[in-house]
Amino acid sequence: MSGIDFVQTSEAALRDAELQGAMRAAMVRFRELQRPAQAEVSDWQALRAYAHGVKRHTLGALAHYLTQLESQVLAAGGRVHWARDGAEAAEIITGIARAAGRRVVKSKSMTTEEIHLNAALEGDGAQVTETDLGEYLIQLAGETPSHIIAPVVHKSTEAIADLLAAKLGVPRYSEPHELTAVARRVLRERFLEADVGITGVNFAVAETGTLVIVENEGNARLVTTLPRVHVALMGIEKVIPRLADLAVFLTLLPRAATGQRMSTYVSLLTGPRRPGERDGPEAQHLVIMDNGRSAIHADPVMGEALSCIRCGACLNVCPVFERTGGHAYGSVYSGPIGAVLTPLFRGVREAGALPFASSLCGACGEICPVKIDLPGLLLELRARVVASGGAPLRERLFIAGWTAAASRPGRFTAAGRVLRAALRLIGRRPAWLPFPLSKWVSTRDLPPPARGAFRDRWRR
Ligand code: SF4
Repeated sequence: MSGIDFVQTSEAALRDAELQGAMRAAMVRFRELQRPAQAEVSDWQALRAYAHGVKRHTLGALAHYLTQLESQVLAAGGRVHWARDGAEAAEIITGIARAAGRRVVKSKSMTTEEIHLNAALEGDGAQVTETDLGEYLIQLAGETPSHIIAPVVHKSTEAIADLLAAKLGVPRYSEPHELTAVARRVLRERFLEADVGITGVNFAVAETGTLVIVENEGNARLVTTLPRVHVALMGIEKVIPRLADLAVFLTLLPRAATGQRMSTYVSLLTGPRRPGERDGPEAQHLVIMDNGRSAIHADPVMGEALSCIRCGACLNVCPVFERTGGHAYGSVYSGPIGAVLTPLFRGVREAGALPFASSLCGACGEICPVKIDLPGLLLELRARVVASGGAPLRERLFIAGWTAAASRPGRFTAAGRVLRAALRLIGRRPAWLPFPLSKWVSTRDLPPPARGAFRDRWRR
């Protein structure tokens, strides 16, 4: 049924002891940092509600705000390109890179990961270097990110030391500051010789045409100022109406993402370098991409998913994500928001397993800084998977049997009698039960049968 076999990929992750240790340590650390950072904001819940309202309002007038954004970027001296899908966005960006000189430095961007931009650029002869440390390591390893904001979270320090030694031919350093220094030496050279800098966009302010990039390492700032050309890629949902709204999102995003009061670098870019200014690019290009978002936007229930500001907080509290890591989701978007977005982008027939990769504990919905009802969206997707005939045959047979038994009191009572008798016969841990019941009893005892039906006991 599904192109993404989450059961299989998650089993592989569960057997990976290194991944288990790294994920557990990182997720616990994230949660320890987030709690106090959010607790010190007395009106945290009010800010979440406000941000939710801004996002809903903006999505309700998306065409208006995107048009306003385009006008303001043009007025500030930038250029705007519209891309219907990932292929068109990649074509536009490779064309810009080809004309500018093909040496490309990038700052971490999930949207460029979504469209496999590096492969498109390299296929066109460009030299592409990821400059955020985690993303650079992922590029060296030939992997994809396993977390929205911490792409290399699944790797231990030892694994990173092995990777740098193998790929760069440097000694096998073991201290994090030594490993960082190795990467910095390589990356500084790439920054200085780059022709084009490519980034994503955290927020695009319609009233001013300002592109906002939030980061901790300072690489995005170098990527957007050192090369002669800056290209920013954004999904249509990244627009916000006013600079004043930014204050709220900048209070929520760092606290939800990393437990920081404010990220180390927040860049507000309005147009390219102006006459008389000493730094900044000669040309700024903004690529505004749809790539399936209009269809999500038109969906009266699932459109809410476009409010996501990619903070990663829902991943950090998800018990499933903590055990499987991001690669098990078979998509650049992982965790609860990935389990929602991927079926919307790729269809429930290909990614219908993902909405079931959740315990529905509700933690993701409670932590989300823009109040996306993630459990509700996951449930809705589950219903759509079942309605499209995507549930496994044995599950459909079980539900059909349950419906037949539970919809008539007489049948329900008779089924209860049969089940109690069967439990008495087979005992607590029968080794001979066939699959899939054998899997259940291999780790659990069956419950002892009740002495009688609850309703009979209640009557007595
Ligand atoms: S769904 Fe909410 S918590 Fe998850 S990444 Fe998006 S904004 Fe953050």
